[in-house]
Amino acid sequence: MAHLDVVVADITTLAVDAIVNAANNSLLGGGGVDGAIHRAAGPELLEACRPLGGCDTGKAKITPGFNLPARYVIHTVGPVWQGGDDGEPQLLASCYRESLLLAEAHACASVAFPAISCGVYGYPLAAAVEVAVASVREQLPGCHSIGRVSFVCFDEKAARCYETALGA
Ligand code: ADP
Repeated sequence: MAHLDVVVADITTLAVDAIVNAANNSLLGGGGVDGAIHRAAGPELLEACRPLGGCDTGKAKITPGFNLPARYVIHTVGPVWQGGDDGEPQLLASCYRESLLLAEAHACASVAFPAISCGVYGYPLAAAVEVAVASVREQLPGCHSIGRVSFVCFDEKAARCYETALGA
C-alpha cells in the first residue's frame, strides 16, 4: 500500500511523476494553483489542454508536465462549495479517485495533490481534507504502480489539518 505524506511546498517545484491541478471546467488556465502550474509549465501546457475540450466537475484529464519537474499534470475540476448539500463531497471524492486512476494508467509511482476546491472554490478545509484522505485510502488498494501520495499545502495550518486526518 502506498505511503501517504504531507508536504508544505509550492506544488510546481515537486519532482514527482504527476502533480494534480485544481483546474476549472475550461482547462484553459485560471488563478491559484492552476495559474502557478501553467506559469511554471510554460505555454505548451495551454496548447496541450486546448484540444481536451474541457473537463466535467469530478473528472480528470492528463497532459505532460512540459517545463515542470513533474512528468505529468493531472487536471481535475473540484466542486464549488454551495453549502455541502449539492453533491460536493461525492464530486470532491471523485476528483481524487479519477486522478489516481489516471496516474495508475500512466504507471506513476508518485502523485502530489493540492487541496482541491479549498481556494477560490470555497470548500471548508477540514471537511475537504477528510474527503481527500478517505477517497485516496479507498482507491489505493487498486493502484499498484503508486508508491507515494503527497498532500501539498501552502501553509503549516493546512498541513496540521492533513496530519490530523491521516492520524499522524
Ligand atoms: P480551487 O479553485 O479548486 O479552490 P485554488 O487554486 O484556488 O483552487 O486553491 C486550491 C488550494 O491550492 C488552496 O488551498 C491554495 O492555498 C493552494 N495553492 C495555491 N497555489 C498553490 C501552489 N503553488 N502549490 C500548492 N498549493 C497551492
